[in-house]
Amino acid sequence: MRQKSVLVVGAGLSGAVIARILAIRGVHVCVVEGRNHVAGNCHTVRDQHTGVMVHAYGPHIFHTDDAEVWRFVNRYANFKQFKNQVKAQVGGGVYALPINLHTINQFFGKTFDPNAARAFIQAQTTPVIAPARNFEEQALQTIGRDLYQAFFKGYTEKQWGRAARDLPASLLKRLPLRFDYNDDYFSHRYQGIPEAGYTDMVARMLDHALIEVQLGVRFDRVDARGFDHVFYSGAVDGYFGHSYGRLAYRTLDFETRSYEGDFQGCAVMNYPSADVAYTRITEHKYFAPWESHERTICYTEFSRDCGIGDIPFYPIRLVHEKQMLAKYRDLAAREAGVSFVGRLGTYRYLDMDVTIKEAMQIARTYAKKAGVAALPAALEAAA
Ligand code: UDP
Repeated sequence: MRQKSVLVVGAGLSGAVIARILAIRGVHVCVVEGRNHVAGNCHTVRDQHTGVMVHAYGPHIFHTDDAEVWRFVNRYANFKQFKNQVKAQVGGGVYALPINLHTINQFFGKTFDPNAARAFIQAQTTPVIAPARNFEEQALQTIGRDLYQAFFKGYTEKQWGRAARDLPASLLKRLPLRFDYNDDYFSHRYQGIPEAGYTDMVARMLDHALIEVQLGVRFDRVDARGFDHVFYSGAVDGYFGHSYGRLAYRTLDFETRSYEGDFQGCAVMNYPSADVAYTRITEHKYFAPWESHERTICYTEFSRDCGIGDIPFYPIRLVHEKQMLAKYRDLAAREAGVSFVGRLGTYRYLDMDVTIKEAMQIARTYAKKAGVAALPAALEAAA
């Protein structure tokens, strides 16, 4: 049988996982990437001046409950345990996020135990008569007005550039509310950061005799000719020439500063107040506590609407955009020989682990349909 050959557009997590899974089954994979590096927005690079490993497109902490995904990423990187513990500076105080018993006691000047705190917060919330229709309703139903206004309203409106009433309730559900002193940002079983950075991890995934990577190459639809299949991880509206209009994304700008010693004493400090223009400051060396550096480098993060030529980070998914998205989804479903994958290809706010899981499933499904030899699980795990 002739060797199958596929084109993967984008060398981020989706593209690299698909390329690897197909290459180990004997498929020839060509990966084209528009930027001059692999790993998409989880790209990491060592800053020349300070020696610190920088998360070039903002903080990325790997967290998952999925043992298969965890095993997969650990084949390409040595993960160091890392638990994100975010702080928020607001109203002249510094608080722990996500909201936990310490945050509640500190914010309200109380010494509640978990039950008392639960009752106190419940008394502040609006009763749930119907499911929340937007971010604001969800916040008022779960944490009440005071905490919402201090920690969420300003941050969310800066981050998304939209009124909290126009944003989906699902956004708030990303963050837990805790009535104990656990201040880990994520609750997942497996959490960590690759010791040599995400770019090294993705480069290892792509390091295979059957994978060819071309950097700095913009994809054009005619490039798909001659391949058996295309996996496209760019923006779905871009693929179709924005024929139904532009789906809204947010992009980020970073102001970079370095200092002697330390700056803030933690990796991520959020600034939820509407009076501060930025959303958060990231001090990158705190993502690698196993390293030591005399200097430090910080990124101050500003969010704005993504214009033509900007890098899209977050799909906004406004309620009125649903129709446009449905039209693109329909076009995508009918596009023969192309699979749309990842955060941009499916226009969803995906975390890294979900992106990887979906990419694994998509690659295996294609392999099966295309009659590419399945690998015994043990062999796949070792490849
Ligand atoms: N959020 C907030 N205040 C904070 C942190 C988060 O209001 O201090 C809201 C905001 O709407 C944000 C969402 O919760 O977009 C999800 O936050 P997450 O930390 O998951 O965002 P990411 O790190 O992916 O940007």
